Amino acid sequence: MDRYLVFGHPVRHSKSPFIHTLFARQTQQELEYGLAEPAIDEFAHALRTFFDQGGKGCNVTVPFKEQAFALVDRLSPRAKRAGAVNTIKLTDDGVLLGDNTDGAGLVADLKSHGVTLADSRILLLGAGGAARGALAPLLAELPSELLIANRTHTKAQQLAAEFHDLGPVTAQTYEQLAGPFDLVINSTSASLQGELPPLAPALIHTDIAIYDMMYGASDTAFISWAKQHGARQTMDGLGMLVEQAAEAFTVWRGIRPGTKQVLRELKRNLGVI
Ligand code: NDP
Repeated sequence: MDRYLVFGHPVRHSKSPFIHTLFARQTQQELEYGLAEPAIDEFAHALRTFFDQGGKGCNVTVPFKEQAFALVDRLSPRAKRAGAVNTIKLTDDGVLLGDNTDGAGLVADLKSHGVTLADSRILLLGAGGAARGALAPLLAELPSELLIANRTHTKAQQLAAEFHDLGPVTAQTYEQLAGPFDLVINSTSASLQGELPPLAPALIHTDIAIYDMMYGASDTAFISWAKQHGARQTMDGLGMLVEQAAEAFTVWRGIRPGTKQVLRELKRNLGVI
């Protein structure tokens, strides 16, 4: 049976095996999908061993995405832009192809929620790996403006300069931000510690769409905060997780699974519904 897995550390709570098992069942593909949690300095060896032993493909999550970028034989254009790899496929000619499906997953999820990206004014919070992966797919949707704000301002400036050729992207400090924005995407990891990015509450209004890449069984700190200040449309990153997985599955198997039912099952599994 074709073997796939996700590499991460820690990875025990990953939802990827659950998601890909449902995709495989739905599309009648024979495969198994597991977990691997190598020590931080053992990733390269573990990756090589997995493919030497017949593995067909894998996902890569925190903290190995940058290492994976350096280890593959070939990069897709979107992985090259993102500077990180979250999906690896062993091609028929024995090449390890590195791809990045995170940004495509984000855009697919935003669209599935009916969020309009074209001609919209988007604020992206954070300038880490997730922000980097999101920039090219977001700019491809032709927003009127995309502002990046990050705690360490120089990182936002670097990102904006790097992606400037793709569209109207600039960096501002949190203090400089002036609304109104149509969409705010939180790609910071602040919610992980129950913290908030230092965004002025006045930037939140009833017609704004709020997206937090983080997810959990209950509202993230950022989503709770945005609701408190009047936001009516809030979304967490669970849909992005399922959509990036669907994109990876398509890269591996050449067949696109449906995501709606799988997202519903995942929410039930997490106790959200
Ligand atoms: P990184 O560590 O690369 O970047 C973290 C970012 O968050 C940096 O910009 C950092 O700012 C900022 N930050 C951290 N703490 C705070 C704080 N208290 N206040 C303000 N800013 C803060 O992480 P990633 O980009 O890889 O991941 C970010 C988030 O996205 C994580 O929560 C991750 O779980 C989520 N994610 C979700 C996915 C999904 O499928 N739903 C996929 C990928 C990521 P600074 O530069 O100043 O340190």
